[in-house]
Amino acid sequence: PPVSTAIIGAGIAGLACGQALRAAGLPVRLFDKGRGPGGRMSSRRLPGAVVDLGAQFFSVRDPAFRRRVTAWQDAGHVAPWPETLWQVSETGWQRHRDDVERFIGTPRMSAVTRRLAEGLEVATGTRIERLESRDGHWWLLDQHDERHGPFARVVIAVPTPQAATLLAGHEPALAEACEAVIQRPCWAAWARFDAPLPSLPGVGDDWQAVRLDLDQDRAPAADALRFVSRNDHKPGRHGQGESLSLLARLEWSEAHLERDAEAVARALLDAFRGRLPRGVALPEPTDLGAHLWRHAQPDVFAGGEAVNRDYRRSSSGLALCGDGWRGPRVEDAWLSGHHLGEALTADAP
Ligand code: FAD
Repeated sequence: PPVSTAIIGAGIAGLACGQALRAAGLPVRLFDKGRGPGGRMSSRRLPGAVVDLGAQFFSVRDPAFRRRVTAWQDAGHVAPWPETLWQVSETGWQRHRDDVERFIGTPRMSAVTRRLAEGLEVATGTRIERLESRDGHWWLLDQHDERHGPFARVVIAVPTPQAATLLAGHEPALAEACEAVIQRPCWAAWARFDAPLPSLPGVGDDWQAVRLDLDQDRAPAADALRFVSRNDHKPGRHGQGESLSLLARLEWSEAHLERDAEAVARALLDAFRGRLPRGVALPEPTDLGAHLWRHAQPDVFAGGEAVNRDYRRSSSGLALCGDGWRGPRVEDAWLSGHHLGEALTADAP
């Protein structure tokens, strides 16, 4: 029979790997603990608005990824965004211009992973807690002690700290490699408004996304925030109510891990108020909340040798992919999964 592969994690890396195997006609099954695929590219539905809580946009640099993104764009699953990116520094609000191509899923970020999941068998709501090796095959055990298998190969496409847990007892060297990749936490908040947001002096209404630089002159609380986007200014979402996604700085998130989500959301919104041009006031939000990503983005500098290997494999049929092996972006996660899928395809009998 053809080599069967299990993929744990249906984020963009696991899905890209799954699609590469499927394209080669190899059987593959994916498992994800979430309600749907998507992982850190997921979006949240509020009454009257959809907000992106993970990745806000993704850049395109690699030619293979560019070809894939162009196909998604032609099919209407992604669009260029933001058209107006601003940067707030000590000197105020400035248009940020560079040559980087940036895209977003339409009508929400999760449209990309939804598209990638098409044609793949994905078991959602299934948290894999243990791996078992028997007679040269792998079995997966989920949270209900249900057994899935047998599989010739298992791809672990989850954030590296979680991958380390699954590998313990099977591949100590790989588990150690996982532990060397630090995934840093990030608080992501949303604020929904019934009233329109004010026009900003010198900026106007046309701001879609804002990067906030560190500001040495301000109180540290103002430095909680690193990025803000307007969800109703994203392609496919015009006409939904006004809402903001507010991402905390990673250092700030580390320092406020145990804080209550509501308090975090307030702090991030207040930090944004503090960076608005003088005299501008935001209306009170009608819905406010926050989500903590415990493993938001790999620290590429701390990872050192471990990172930039694309993916990892063992001779026992286990393999690892995901952003942790390449870099902190959607593009890195896709490339990691895609390259692993190609490598697995190449050595399947
Ligand atoms: P994930 O998306 O995390 O996928 C892993 C999947 O595994 C998840 O779906 C999870 O549910 C599942 N899983 C975990 N453990 C188990 C288990 N035991 N059993 C079953 N399933 C399991 N990138 C950019 O390019 N641009 C940005 O602007 C950007 N901003 C970001 C902002 C935030 C707040 C965050 C959190 C990330 C951001 N990123 C950004 C990074 C980008 O989102 C990630 O690099 C990328 O989505 C990672 O994909 P992945 O497939 O490697 O992992």
